[in-house]
Amino acid sequence: MNSDCLFCRIVAGELPADEVHREDGILAFKDIHPVADTHVLVIPERHIEDLRHLRLEDAGLWLRLTQVANEVADDLGHEDGYRFYVSVGSAGGQTVPHLHIHVMAGSMRRLPV
Ligand code: 5GP
Ligand code: ZN
Repeated sequence: MNSDCLFCRIVAGELPADEVHREDGILAFKDIHPVADTHVLVIPERHIEDLRHLRLEDAGLWLRLTQVANEVADDLGHEDGYRFYVSVGSAGGQTVPHLHIHVMAGSMRRLPV
């Protein structure tokens, strides 16, 4: 855990979050500033800064993160599809340096830029 990291603190329960799924190693919770009817963040519990820090040995973790994104969209009634995006680094628009997948579905008020 990185105690300076917002999402590590959510994983640790030090900060509140509206959780929609938790399993060994993975947490999904609602984005605090949703820009779609459904806007959930799926994160590894382990602090991984961004996609560039994934290693080959994390392949199973990455696959499972994508499956959880699918399952969360399904569970929230979006079997018809959803937007999946990941920002990488500040130049890629990443504001929280802990890897997260955005799951957005339904009416979208603002597309990511
Ligand atoms: P990024 O800009 O890094 O791709 O996405 C970070 C996301 O985290 C943003 O959509 C932002 O609204 C969300 N966020 C930032 N702080 C918090 C927080 O304390 N709690 C929750 N649930 N979401 C947060
Ligand atoms: Zn972290």
